[in-house]
Amino acid sequence: MTIRTRFAPSPTGYLHVGGARTALFSWLYARKYGGQFVLRIEDTDLERSSAESVQAILDGMKWLGLDYDEGPFYQTQRFDRYKEIINQLMEQGDAYYCYCSKDELETMREEQRANKQKPRYDGRCRHLTTPKAGVEPVIRFKNPIEGSVVVKDLIRGDIEFNNSELDDLVIARPDGTPTYNLTVVVDDIDMRMTHVIRGDDHINNSPRQINIFKALHAKPPLFAHVPMILGDDGARLSKRHGAVSVMSYRDEGFLPEALLNYLVRLGWSHGDQEIFTKEEMVNLFDIQDVNKAASSFNTDKLLWLNQQYIKVSSPAHIAEHLRWHLEHKNIDTSAGPDLKQVITLYQDRAKTLAEMVDSSRFFYIIPDSYDEKAANKNLTDKSLPLLEEMLVRLRDSKQWLAEPLHEQIKECAEKNDVGMGKVAQPIRVAITGNTVSPSLDITLELLGRERTLSAIEMAISWIKDQA
Ligand code: GLU
Repeated sequence: MTIRTRFAPSPTGYLHVGGARTALFSWLYARKYGGQFVLRIEDTDLERSSAESVQAILDGMKWLGLDYDEGPFYQTQRFDRYKEIINQLMEQGDAYYCYCSKDELETMREEQRANKQKPRYDGRCRHLTTPKAGVEPVIRFKNPIEGSVVVKDLIRGDIEFNNSELDDLVIARPDGTPTYNLTVVVDDIDMRMTHVIRGDDHINNSPRQINIFKALHAKPPLFAHVPMILGDDGARLSKRHGAVSVMSYRDEGFLPEALLNYLVRLGWSHGDQEIFTKEEMVNLFDIQDVNKAASSFNTDKLLWLNQQYIKVSSPAHIAEHLRWHLEHKNIDTSAGPDLKQVITLYQDRAKTLAEMVDSSRFFYIIPDSYDEKAANKNLTDKSLPLLEEMLVRLRDSKQWLAEPLHEQIKECAEKNDVGMGKVAQPIRVAITGNTVSPSLDITLELLGRERTLSAIEMAISWIKDQA
């Protein structure tokens, strides 16, 4: 049997981390067993679905590198097929028209509550033989009345539901459009799904869907209901806990592999190993090993993982992602130093790529303003002659390499009888706008003669303008 799994998001918002984790688990399971992974966009709720959300899902999948073998399929393009199945269920006697109005249903539920019963549709239209004039009916599935359904869940084990607890669910709305529980089953049959891996908010849908599978003479898939993700306060992870959309993690400077690594560990572990390459994930992951309990999102841990990935990734790989961030901030890297070399200066420290952009942008943009405190301390009348002297020394320096540049700074300090910091720090402010940079000689070597001289010239004019 070829394993076939799917990710079936409803495009009613961005791709959030919970969805991404479900997608990752489905993807890993298919990849591990040499199966296929399908992407299906469940866009039948026309009011809540949007083209932007579809795009956000596609972008998120692409950024995470979760490639699919088939799809994206769109449910809105399959209405004819759903209609066909609804008709089939009607003809088989497994579905019926229900004419109950909202008020009638509400009164029914109130009576049930008053009698201390669980509110549920009581099947009163099951045996109607004549339509009610002037009412557009819904269509309900005839759920079996007796017996029970077992959901075979690879995470939780078998979960049994009594049919007496499941009511006849609506499979078509008055306008004939199909509902979620019907479309999912039709698609899972047509797309030959062997495993349905999804959030545990769908647990109560599964027995109902299995009954529809049975009515359609199809073998139900195996299920894996993945527990939810909680925020650090124990409540279900949501926007108020900060970033939850996958793309906002990109924007904040996370590497996709760090986020994937973080997500795989949310509810799954392999001994005490924390860092997994994609290949290791594929080899070691198994859906049976996912925890039953909910897991909590921990941003500090994600940051730590990101830092580890930044540290060990090749500069060329980081450059691919960093370039996106720089372009996004309109920073043109074509005229400045090789990005890969700049990256090596920051790899050991940066927690995010956004942080790396902030600290390295001066390599590509000469600052036109300075941090006030840094300038007040370092761009002064006293530092002016030192900067002027350095301008000449650097202009004349034969070799633009860290070591001779260091010598120039040292000689200038000695000649003027000041500490090296008194020479170095004004240059640092001139080139970065602030007082932080990697080792100055290496920084200058990378920045290049032309840019260094321009920055020092600008700082000199700035000091003169202050007078
Ligand atoms: N479209 C459903 C959702 O986004 C998922 C359905 C499923 O995986 O079966 O919650």
